[in-house]
Amino acid sequence: MDGKSLSHAHYRMDRWTGLPVLVAPSRGAMKAPPWGGLPPLEGPCPFCPGNENACEATTQWLGDPWRVRAVLNRYPLVHPAGLPIEGSTFETALGVHEVIVEHREHSMDITQMRPDECFEVLWMWRARMRALEKLKGVRSLILFKNRGLRAGSSQPHPHSQLVALHAVPPAIAARSLQARHRGQLQGGAFVRALCAEELAHPERLVLERGSLWAFCPWASPKAFWLRIAFDQSAGRFSELPDQALWTLAGSIGPLLRSILMAAQTQDFNLFILDPPLNESYGFSIEVVPRTSLDAGFELASGLAVCTCPPEQAAPAIREALRMAT
Ligand SMILES: [Zn+2]
Repeated sequence: MDGKSLSHAHYRMDRWTGLPVLVAPSRGAMKAPPWGGLPPLEGPCPFCPGNENACEATTQWLGDPWRVRAVLNRYPLVHPAGLPIEGSTFETALGVHEVIVEHREHSMDITQMRPDECFEVLWMWRARMRALEKLKGVRSLILFKNRGLRAGSSQPHPHSQLVALHAVPPAIAARSLQARHRGQLQGGAFVRALCAEELAHPERLVLERGSLWAFCPWASPKAFWLRIAFDQSAGRFSELPDQALWTLAGSIGPLLRSILMAAQTQDFNLFILDPPLNESYGFSIEVVPRTSLDAGFELASGLAVCTCPPEQAAPAIREALRMAT
C-alpha cells in the first residue's frame, strides 16, 4: 500500500472479528486528552506489603514473603458465583473477579521489570486462569491490565485483573464465529492461520522471537495497537508452555516501552483474548496505548477508529525498539 492511499479515511475488514474498523489518519493530528498518568493514591495502598489485611481474600501467592499474589476484587464486575441472590428478576451476571498484585514495590511497573519478574507475573496469570477454568459454570475468561488514567486505572500499584464469566461476551463470540466459519476451532488453528496472513506483510511486523510474533494488525482498531501471538498449538493462554512464557517475559518490557515511546503516552491497556472454554482456536495478547478516548461517533457507530495506519505505526515501534536494545 503506498503512502498516498494511507492518507485518506478508509474502512478495513477485520478478519479476526468480521467487523469493519475505520482508519482516519486526519484525526491523528488531534491532541490527546491531557490528563494521563497514574491515578493519585487516596489513603494507604491496599496492595503494598504490610497492608494485606486491607484486601479481600488471597487466592494464590508466589514466594515467602510474597512477590506476586492474587486476591479477590473488592469491587467485582460480576456477582460471585455461590453467593445467594435475593429477589432479582434480572439475569444475574455470575463469575469471579480477581486482582493480581504484580510486585511488592508500589512504584514498579511491568514496563520496567526484569525478565524473571515478568515471568512470575505471567506464571501467575497462567496459574489463575488454569484455576478459574476449572470452576463450574465458567464459560470464558478475560485477563486485562489498565495502566494510567486514560486506560481506566484507579490504583497506581502495579496490578492486573482476571474475570471469569458464566457467559461469552461479544468480542470473544465474534472471533468464535469467524473461527467456526473457517473450520479452525481447535488447536490454535484460527489464530495461527490469521497470523500467517498478517505476516505476509512484513512491514507491519514489529518483533519475531522464537515462537512469538508481535505485529500491528491490518485492521488495527486503534492507533499503535500491537498484537502478540504464538506459533504454537496452544489453544489458549493457560496451555502456553514455560518456554514460550520465558520468551514473552523477555519481550514484553522492551515492547511496551517502545510502543509507549512511539505513541507518546504512558497509559495503556493490555488484555488476553482467549477463546471460550469449549473451544481452542488460539489466543492473542493485545496492547493498546491510550492516546484518545471513545467519543460520540465511536459510541453511536460501534466502529473502532484508528488514527494512525498500522503501516506507519509498526516502523515507529520498531525504531523505538531498536533504540531501546
Ligand atoms: Zn502500593
